[in-house]
Order: sequence, then C-alpha cells, then structure tokens
Amino acid sequence: MCGDCMKLRRRRDSRTRKIQTLFGTIAVDAPRISVCPCRNNWGFVDVSQSPLAELLLDRCTPELRQLQGELSVRHSYREAARLLNTFLPCDPVSHATVRNRTHRVAADLEQKAIALPNSEPESDPAAELLVLIDGADIRAAHGYQSRHLDVTFGKIEVTGKPPRRFALAPKGAPSPLATLRQALHEQGWRPGRAITVLSDGEAALPGLVRAAVGEPVTCILDWWHISMRVQHIQQALRGIDALDPQHRAGLEMVEWRIGRLRHLIWNGYHEEAHDELFGVRHTASEVAYLNGERFRPAVARLLWNCDDLRRYLANNTGSLIDYGARYRSKLPISTSRAEGCVDEIANARMAKKQRMRWSPQGAHRIAIVRAAVLDGRLKSEVSGLLAA
Ligand SMILES: [Zn+2]
Repeated sequence: MCGDCMKLRRRRDSRTRKIQTLFGTIAVDAPRISVCPCRNNWGFVDVSQSPLAELLLDRCTPELRQLQGELSVRHSYREAARLLNTFLPCDPVSHATVRNRTHRVAADLEQKAIALPNSEPESDPAAELLVLIDGADIRAAHGYQSRHLDVTFGKIEVTGKPPRRFALAPKGAPSPLATLRQALHEQGWRPGRAITVLSDGEAALPGLVRAAVGEPVTCILDWWHISMRVQHIQQALRGIDALDPQHRAGLEMVEWRIGRLRHLIWNGYHEEAHDELFGVRHTASEVAYLNGERFRPAVARLLWNCDDLRRYLANNTGSLIDYGARYRSKLPISTSRAEGCVDEIANARMAKKQRMRWSPQGAHRIAIVRAAVLDGRLKSEVSGLLAA
C-alpha cells in the first residue's frame, strides 16, 4: 500500500531469487512492486522496487553476513572461505567473495555511522570522557608509496557505557575524522565537552582526536611507557653490577637515584626528575672512571637509556601529569587497555609475522569490522534487522 495516497500498489512481476542462508541456499519469491504513480516523478516510466533485495544485501541473510565478517577478521580470507565451506551447506564461496562481502559490511558500517543522526543521549558531563589511543604499523601491499601503513586503534571510555572501540587507517578511510567524531558521539560526547586522550607520546594520535572534535583536548602521556624506560635504566644498572665492580659506592648511589627518579616522575615533579636524570648520568660516569675500561660498554648502555628517557620526557612535557594523584582518584594512567585493543584488532590479522600485505583501504575496512565485532555491534545490527 502506498503510504501517501493509501492506494494498493501494482505487483509488477515476480522473480525467484537465490538467497544464501546459514542452512543452505534457498530460492524464494521476490516480487517487484511498482512505485505508486503519485510518487513516480518519471511520468510514464514504470519504476519498481524489490523489497527483498533491499532487505537482504548481497543475496545473503544477515546472520550469514555477520558470520562471514566475524570469520574474516579472525582468519585470512582464504581460511575464512575454507571454514565456511566446511561447516555450511551453502554453495562454496571463494576467498574473493568473502573479502568483497567483508568490505561491503565495512562500507555499510561506515556509511551508517556517518549518515545516521545520532540518537545517543549525552553522557554524564561530569564523568571523564577518555580516549585511549594507540597505533600500529602493518605491512603495505606492493605498489603503495610506503612499505608500512599506519593503523590507529582506540577505545572511548565513559562511565555508564560499555567501551566503544574504533579503528581506522587514515590513508584508507574515506573520512577518518567523521568516523572518529561519530564514535565519540555514540559515547555521549557533545561539542564543548572536555576530552582526555591517553597515548604513548606519538604526537599524531592526540592530533587526530583534536582534529576530529575541532577543539583542544587534554593529553596525558601513558605511564606504562615511562615506567618501561625507567626499567630499562635499571636493567642496564644490573648489567654493570653483573661485572662485579670493585668500587660499589657509586653504583649504590645510582640505584638510589633511579628509585628517586621514578618517584619524582610519578608525583609530578618533572623538573626535579630532569635534574635527577643528570645526576644518574653523572654518577654512572664516575662508576666507569673508577672501575676501569672493562665497564665502559655497560655504562654507555645505561647512559644511552638515560638520554632516551630524557628525550621522551622532553618531547612530551605538555602531557606529563601528577600520575600519583590521578591514580589515587582511580582514573586510568596507562594505555595498556588501548594496547590490548591493538592486540585484539591488529594482531589477529595484521601481525608482521603474517605474510599478508595490505592496501590502505583493505586494512581500514578489516580494522573497522574487527572493532565492530569486538564491541558486539555487528551482532546487535543483525538482531535489529531481524526485529525489523
Ligand atoms: Zn500513492
């Protein structure tokens, strides 16, 4: 029935369509229905639509599409096709079909995200809206400008909502900023709301969030990455200790200073930490001087690690905070959860040990489908469709 004039619409013809389902391929009637003359602006041309084709994209049921998407973000397209062909009574699918379908699922997800008006209510403005962000570089396919591709992964967390993952390969995304902005909207962000970005010091990553919202964001340097660098200095110190030096006093001094250094950074005394690093350097040089030539390489390693930490802190001065205070307020100080996100999203399919090489678009699409699978968004889409 036409929604405008309430007249019955004409059934133009009926075709049989083959639909792939989880339980095999079936043939169903797929009528084509003429568009009502009152809506038909083309005059005498008979325009029709096929409701079934609009409902079932790719001539396959949403459950099958979801399964194909889930398998292909966990396994190679070839392996996903093999699994499908082993377990399902459908006509055999090729890896190219699985790939094309996954790409279309990704394109749908992306298009829907940008096209749909945002219906999510605003989340509690007092709660911190935290973006944990991290990057990975994966091998690019031959013929692209660089050998590696950047893929960015992250999680948006706010109290009262499950975390929302996002992933994008900026070079392969049609509109990376809109995608990110939409993900923030889904977590209840509104323009003007403060955002905190936790990252490992890669300047491009907070920059991406800043560009997406068009407003300044608060950046915090990940504690874990600082802590690892301090630990490297401690390891270098153990390397010196293992050589059994005669003059130990200097060594004990270095050890004490490293402990103090960690304490200073943790509590937000960053200038003092900078001075302490020079102190560690100075005392360590004396250890080499007192104990002889044999100690020089081990001490050089310690000095190198000190300089590495100093550069890291200097490059991120604006994102250093009082970690202790933040920790005591039970707020996250580490991107370890974003890194988990990288593992979940990237490593299953894009790890360097795999021989697979990626086009920017291919990488982007698999990453967004993977993020949607992990969030359960693909599944809820299917149940939404079934309910409709
Ligand atoms: Zn009508």
